[in-house]
Amino acid sequence: MEMGREWRQPRAELRFSRRHFLLASAGGLVAGCGRPSWPDLPAEVLAFHRESAVFDLHIDTLLWQRFLAYDMAERHQPIFPSSAFAWQMDLPRARDAGLDGAVLGIVVTPRKVRPEQLWALKIHAKIESGVGIDQTLETLDLLQSIAGRHGDAIVHVRNAADLDQALETGRFAALAGLEGAHGIEGCLDNLRKTWEHGLRMLGLVHFQANAAASPMTAPGFDGEGLTDFGIGLLAELERLRIVIDIAHLNRVGVDDVLRRVQRPFVVSHSACHGVHATPRNLSDAQISAIAERGGVLGLAVGRSFLGPGGIDAFVAHAEHARKVGGEEVLAIGSDWDGGIIPVPGLEDVGGLPHLTHALLDAGWKTEAVRKLLGGNALRVLREVLG
Ligand SMILES: [Zn+2]
Repeated sequence: MEMGREWRQPRAELRFSRRHFLLASAGGLVAGCGRPSWPDLPAEVLAFHRESAVFDLHIDTLLWQRFLAYDMAERHQPIFPSSAFAWQMDLPRARDAGLDGAVLGIVVTPRKVRPEQLWALKIHAKIESGVGIDQTLETLDLLQSIAGRHGDAIVHVRNAADLDQALETGRFAALAGLEGAHGIEGCLDNLRKTWEHGLRMLGLVHFQANAAASPMTAPGFDGEGLTDFGIGLLAELERLRIVIDIAHLNRVGVDDVLRRVQRPFVVSHSACHGVHATPRNLSDAQISAIAERGGVLGLAVGRSFLGPGGIDAFVAHAEHARKVGGEEVLAIGSDWDGGIIPVPGLEDVGGLPHLTHALLDAGWKTEAVRKLLGGNALRVLREVLG
């Protein structure tokens, strides 16, 4: 690191609030208990990171909490080689790493598993009981009970006031986000039920086609846009102020959404096809269209999204998305705990301060880093949740 980089100059711009002082102190205490801190990071970088709002648009920890009784309130370490699949986030590690909140994904087994379903989810469907709307509601209630038991550490966010209060009091701001409209089983009454149980984001589709939309990853669905139900669903989501998520949605479906939505929306977890050509990533044309409509793109941390490399691969995708869509489109949507193999350096939430370091080191201005870390995501959430 050289002196004189943009992030070193505006020291006064690092507005330290009492909350961040407390968080930094807590990090120090934890380090004192044997938990590795970030000794390899310049103190200014760590301070800047902690002072910034950091928000992740997609983390799947609830799946493991429901399926394997993983306890996100307890501290864990990754247990699989390369930190694969899961055990990548919990509340103590999130706090250490300055992660202020996330949309927690709700992965639901469809009532009828279709041929194009992801193989891993086909196996999962045979093992775990529960399907469709019942499993959606069960998982929403699970989040509610975690927030009830650990009210000092996590808030189940239902509106913008909850979000801001969680951020101001240093508690993890957790939104519930359903991965796939199969979780409401083609029924708007079910959607309203999920809203009552605290659902605040909905991804139109996951890995198999459903009553609303078709996935980008299954061959044979390229021509299938949103169904009539899917189009009605968009309107009801906007009426209820549930954030629309178009991750996993096929190209014609994305076009349908872009034509119809009024409010901002998200692509909760994806990356740039222009950097790594994989079906789950977005084309440059999609990224610029999404940016034009006020949407944000949560960049994932998995190797399948980013391609070869470590944190530098994430930075390359961020640079590309910024070039194509401008800095208002940037966000994080790690997909931690979503069965991914993370790139080296971002094995778990503890990698976040290193990500900030890498962006600053690449010459990013502090304001752009702040937007990527959470500013843009929070802008959309506040506007939609109201
Ligand atoms: Zn996903």
